[in-house]
Amino acid sequence: MSTVAFIGLGIMGGPMARHLAGAGYDVVGFNRSPEKTEQLVEAGGRAADSAAGAVDGADIVALMLPDSPDVTDVVTGAVFDTAKPGTLIVDFSTIRPDVARDLAQQAADRGLRMIDAPVSGGQAGAENAALSIMVGGADADVADARPLLDVVGKTVVHVGPAGAGQTVKAANQLIVAGNIALLAEAVTFLQAHGADLPAAIEVLGGGLAGSAVLNQKAQKMLDGDFAPGFRIDLHHKDMGIVAESARQAGVVTPVAALVAQLVAATRAAGDGDLDHSALLRTVARLNGASS
Ligand code: NAP
Repeated sequence: MSTVAFIGLGIMGGPMARHLAGAGYDVVGFNRSPEKTEQLVEAGGRAADSAAGAVDGADIVALMLPDSPDVTDVVTGAVFDTAKPGTLIVDFSTIRPDVARDLAQQAADRGLRMIDAPVSGGQAGAENAALSIMVGGADADVADARPLLDVVGKTVVHVGPAGAGQTVKAANQLIVAGNIALLAEAVTFLQAHGADLPAAIEVLGGGLAGSAVLNQKAQKMLDGDFAPGFRIDLHHKDMGIVAESARQAGVVTPVAALVAQLVAATRAAGDGDLDHSALLRTVARLNGASS
């Protein structure tokens, strides 16, 4: 079975790497905070003490890092310097489409192969190996990655050449942020009317207002449980990708601009480390709440 270097073992990368180990891959993990490799080792994987140490000897390099600069640093540093010819790099992180395209070209120039495979489905999707994965890259590389993608994903779709996965992911993040913002307003509205919130959420979930966002986030809002999940800081990063990509294409996205401001306001209020369901706190503040 192939050896997989897995770099970035956070909320998403941790469970994904463990699923790969459970499926029989020889997984060598590296994370900036070293204690996050412990669960991978318990699941049958191995721990490396540097990114290069993980990549050395690997057939596949998987990345699940926060942002474009993190992926660029690791790929142009450890991976390009250490990977053996033909190594397949699978970037699960959400980064800028133009950066994904550029890195894939640089990898090809060095005799390596790189695809973008950003995911959707949240922490629950990672833990249940039920992610939706939007894949950009060359046909042969995506075909070679598919067995690995199928271990962590339930809906795996090749959407185009390098960078195309990131473009689709940006659209995903726009839809999710807009849904959460409207859910937050609906919850605030229902609270103001003294509605039976659990009953309201149950019936809303069965109709056209139902959504994966409502299923995963409404209860967190009702409980005031904003532990991440998906951090506001990361969604702020993604709304920047949406704005920049829309500008590049000359597309007007007024609702995206409004929602991006609500996400930015949540961050500015000090809630950047909370789950994106904490948009509820911003809506509450707009309605006079003090914190
Ligand atoms: P996270 O919990 O912050 O995980 C990122 C991990 O990368 C952290 O453990 C961090 O280590 C590590 N890291 C950062 N720089 C590193 C480096 N240079 N070398 C090695 N490790 C490094 O974030 P996440 O929620 O898993 O998100 C990861 C990516 O998935 C992001 O692009 C995000 O937008 C995307 N995503 C997240 C979700 C979600 O629901 N959470 C869903 C879909 C997509 P430290 O422990 O030292 O910080």
